[in-house]
Amino acid sequence: MKGFAMTAPNKVEWIEKEKPKAGPKDAIIKPTALAPCSSDIHTVWEGGLDLQGEIRILGHEAIGIVDSVGSEVKDFKPGDKVIVPAITPNWSAKASQCGFHQHADCLLGGYQFTFVRDGSMSEYFLVNDADANLAIQPDEMSDESALMLTDMVTTGFSGAENANIQIGDNVAVIGIGPVGLNAVAGAELRGAGRIFAVGSRPDCINIAKKYGATDIVNYREGDIVEQILAETNGVGVDAVVLAGGNAETFAQAIQMTKPGSTISNINYFGTQNYKNAGDILPIPRDAWGAGMAHKTVVGGLCPGGRVRMEKLVNVVESGRFDPGLLITHRFKGLEKVEDALYLMKDKPRDLIKPMVKID
Ligand code: NDP
Ligand code: ZN
Repeated sequence: MKGFAMTAPNKVEWIEKEKPKAGPKDAIIKPTALAPCSSDIHTVWEGGLDLQGEIRILGHEAIGIVDSVGSEVKDFKPGDKVIVPAITPNWSAKASQCGFHQHADCLLGGYQFTFVRDGSMSEYFLVNDADANLAIQPDEMSDESALMLTDMVTTGFSGAENANIQIGDNVAVIGIGPVGLNAVAGAELRGAGRIFAVGSRPDCINIAKKYGATDIVNYREGDIVEQILAETNGVGVDAVVLAGGNAETFAQAIQMTKPGSTISNINYFGTQNYKNAGDILPIPRDAWGAGMAHKTVVGGLCPGGRVRMEKLVNVVESGRFDPGLLITHRFKGLEKVEDALYLMKDKPRDLIKPMVKID
């Protein structure tokens, strides 16, 4: 079968591989729709992931049809339409039992696609621990929505969850690409008061308003700390979700918050976006209260697994928000994942998220 792979740092190409075979707990999936992720760009072109010479098929955002299952899989069968989360951990690992399945077996080990095994940009791909890592796509759910749940929604929502947003809190979401837009939606669902959305692309700004942003802050038109402090009488916000920017933006997040606030990062800091600071993310001493400001910094990989996906399905099915609005560019045919990935790399200003449908 063919797959679209990272064959070396900064290099992607089509390769031929054997179709994977399901072990007792695995499922083999034939993708019906795929999306590239900004994380693929960090991985391939920004030194995000060292595969130590391994050639791996890319892709971790997929929905598909179950092709075959292993002998111990109970809840899924060939022909089922499934949502495949980006994070498919080993659920029996100690970290999973401790509540951090994202780090099962090793740091970020829940991220199995590309990191541990081949990803989904291929004719078929393998999902480990299928009963715990697949969810049924309801017939009435659009492919657009289902595909966005796999990574964009779970990540954005986790940014809001980790920010510990309480009803009435003022929140800044820095970065309103597809990830940050879901953080805006998550902040709205958590009952935020004002939601400051930081970005500049007009299409993203429109969706941010639809998803609940009350204020738009354009980082290209002035210092975002000054803009947000001015809007909050110099007090700052209760929580920040970081879904874009660089090392400097991280420092700005600390500067725009009140004592007792939470700064929740969901950015993937590849070498590009923290090059100014070397390998260190700076915490500004003053805004940190010389170390005593009671500010919490948390950063997390998105939650995966079946129960998470089923809960997100529930949010969409109950009509609370429509993640399908994020799809701005559509392609047809597996071979088009290449175009979709390069589109994600080039990021034209009218792009939010591309989707590749496969027959
Ligand atoms: P995008 O590139 O589409 O969006 C980035 C956003 O940040 C845009 O709104 C952009 O503004 C804004 N931005 C850029 N520079 C600055 C700046 N200096 N100050 C303030 N805002 C700025 O990215 P995605 O939404 O696709 O992804 C966001 C991040 O999430 C990536 O790092 C990705 O790898 C990561 N990610 C993390 C996951 C996790 O599990 N934690 C999972 C998936 C992705 P503009 O409107 O001008 O473009
Ligand atoms: Zn991703």
